[in-house]
Amino acid sequence: MPEQSSTQARERRDYERTASIISAALSLVGSSDLAMKGLNAAVKRTVKTPQQQQTADWLRNYTAPGNPGNIFFKNISRLHPNIRKGFVAGMLANFFLRDPEFTKALLAERGISSPTAILISPSMRCNLQCVGCYASEYTAEEELSEEEVESIINQGEAIGSRVYVMLGGEPFVWPHLLDVAERHPHSVFLVFTNATMINDRVADRLLEVGNVCPTISIEGSKESTDARRGAGTYDRIMTAMDRLRERGIIFAISCTATSQNIEEITSEEFADLMVEKGAFYGWYFLYMPVGREPDLSLMPSAEQRLQLHEGVMHLRNTRPLLLADFWGDGTLTGGCLSGGRRYIHINNKGDVEPCIFAHFATDNIKETSLLECLCSDFFKDIRRMQPFGKNLLRPCPIIDHPAVMKRAVERNNAHPTHEGAESLLHELQPGLHKYATEVRDILNPVWENDMKWVDTYLESDFEYQRRKSRAGDADELPEEAGEPVTEEVGVRS
Ligand code: SF4
Repeated sequence: MPEQSSTQARERRDYERTASIISAALSLVGSSDLAMKGLNAAVKRTVKTPQQQQTADWLRNYTAPGNPGNIFFKNISRLHPNIRKGFVAGMLANFFLRDPEFTKALLAERGISSPTAILISPSMRCNLQCVGCYASEYTAEEELSEEEVESIINQGEAIGSRVYVMLGGEPFVWPHLLDVAERHPHSVFLVFTNATMINDRVADRLLEVGNVCPTISIEGSKESTDARRGAGTYDRIMTAMDRLRERGIIFAISCTATSQNIEEITSEEFADLMVEKGAFYGWYFLYMPVGREPDLSLMPSAEQRLQLHEGVMHLRNTRPLLLADFWGDGTLTGGCLSGGRRYIHINNKGDVEPCIFAHFATDNIKETSLLECLCSDFFKDIRRMQPFGKNLLRPCPIIDHPAVMKRAVERNNAHPTHEGAESLLHELQPGLHKYATEVRDILNPVWENDMKWVDTYLESDFEYQRRKSRAGDADELPEEAGEPVTEEVGVRS
């Protein structure tokens, strides 16, 4: 591992100063159109690549007078100073302060990049009993200790990872959550929560800690949310949002798109309500056929995937709410982030999984260092094949290229980490291949006709350029995912 101590010392010295400067600048940027112009001029001066140019163009348009970015930055300037410095400036500083020399050395010596984010589910316990979720059945014995989570974060920070996404179960059930975040003021924490435990005391503590952004799960309307999460949950979510907004605490939303709710969660009414309640950004995930009773019929269809992507882009461009389509925005990230390319997930037992939705592992963080986990053959195999296809609107080795995750798991002897996880490799394969073919037939023409800008945007992304130079997608090339899909499973054209 490259020499780290001098880098760390320099990072620590710079961090406070940079976060303070960014925080002060953010409070100014939202105050006038002139300040906004200053921001755009400063960004323009830093442009070196086509990707940066496209981002700068988008920002200029987004923040033009009367456009939503103007309101977005005004809202940022109204956040409590603790939050603006601890989370917003912290998030930006962490991207800008990544030491390029250290990153290069890590890549040269170990063949890895430090993940942008490390996802941790310290506990699977939950205070709700949602339809189709079994989190309430877990006990406190099946969770990571405070010391174990502390050790993961220390190891992550040592290789430059400073974004921690806390999941579960319900993360606020794990009693050490905010104490751990407070001990790592130079990292930021995104906490995916049902929000029902955000009472006045928790909200006050979030304000004090500063570097935590609750990301609140919501199903769209009151009817849909209560139907899934239990009567009264929607009202409790609204109350929690009010508590956060009134204190100037940033928060985001998280929506799971199913075959039944795309229109609801991409409606302008829903987005406007979330802005009014104080949300700044949001994540849209697809329903994934994982867990104890996976149901392929709940997955958004191929047409609905497109509808979701267009809906998210429309809202992102017209509302002061930065929404991300976790699959469709593979166009911005160069494809799948899993296997340590950009992130990993560590579950409540310490299993190190390539993705929150891929319940397989070869290593456990209680026995193996984070660095060694990232260097595992399993993760290297996944990274070697990324991105799995040229069409980044269908980036996923689980649902878009199902042969890929199956082969990576089988040839590296990864073991299932959750009850029923193997069904993804066996019973569900025919249905997943059928789904992947339908998605390909709908999304390939969209990719070819409407997504030419991605080629320029990813000009300097070596992984995407490597995929483009290969003859096909990972599941079509015998030397990559391996065996071709058989007739019996198959739908290969
Ligand atoms: S495996 Fe699928 S869900 Fe996970 S990061 Fe990759 S594309 Fe996203």
